[in-house]
Amino acid sequence: MSRIVYVNGEFVAEENAVVSVFDRGFLFADAVYEVSSVLEGKLIDNDAHLKRLRRSLGELRIPSPATDEEIIRVQHELIDRNQLQEGLIYLQATRGCADRDFAFPANPSAGLVMFSQAKTLIEAPQARQGIAIITVPDIRWKRRDIKTVGLLAQVMAKQAAKDAGVSDAWMVEDGFVTEGSSNNAFIVDANGKLITRHLGNEILPGITRASVLELVEQENIVFEERSFTVDEAMNASEAFITSATTFVWPVVEIDGVKIGTGKPGVFAPKLREFYLKNSLARAE
Ligand code: PMP
Repeated sequence: MSRIVYVNGEFVAEENAVVSVFDRGFLFADAVYEVSSVLEGKLIDNDAHLKRLRRSLGELRIPSPATDEEIIRVQHELIDRNQLQEGLIYLQATRGCADRDFAFPANPSAGLVMFSQAKTLIEAPQARQGIAIITVPDIRWKRRDIKTVGLLAQVMAKQAAKDAGVSDAWMVEDGFVTEGSSNNAFIVDANGKLITRHLGNEILPGITRASVLELVEQENIVFEERSFTVDEAMNASEAFITSATTFVWPVVEIDGVKIGTGKPGVFAPKLREFYLKNSLARAE
């Protein structure tokens, strides 16, 4: 069965979906995106994803392609039409089409593309086994807080990980870990304190990061938002990542060095369970 996708106001079979060669998302990566996961046919943390979308659009002065209500209606229609139980809804909003010119077009007509992707999320083996990662230099631009489709640095990081036979890469700048190629990075120190980088222009404010930190607070787990080095991560008792499609995955090896026992620790599985329970209860 062919997937039904949404392109600029229309639901079409994926093989018939087209975007213009003049779309600025294609020409300049002049576009932002969001990924909301779907569990049991429901959207997880979607309100927070749409809120971040508004912020990304605002920071880049990209006109809004649709209201939140319209976007939510399309998201649900994609879930229904594609009978999606588990996976994700991808959304990309671009500044629209115009003759190629760097400055904004005079009358931009924002474009909106959305599609579903089926994916095993809950039973992902990485959640149980943990993942090995490498570190790579963070070569991205200086507004990583905006979720743009300019993802070439992350494409290179993920490929470097794949070439090295591991699952992912953490990016490093000035000796400190910024974040994972598509996730936020956490470590746990010898006293059981959780550490994750503070927000700023250097990292994406992860929606899953925020939800997990809320749970951490509720559970009275001690945590600190600050930069940490690769060395500190290698000597941590535990490490893990958070993102919309992984939720929480343990990191058991960094650059060939085993973290803690080399097996998933206690915090990551516990936080994953809390997060899933909590976010499913709130899912829409
Ligand atoms: N950092 C980066 C660079 C990302 O690409 C992502 C996922 N898109 C995240 C963090 C995690 O964000 P979220 O929890 O909102 O998926």
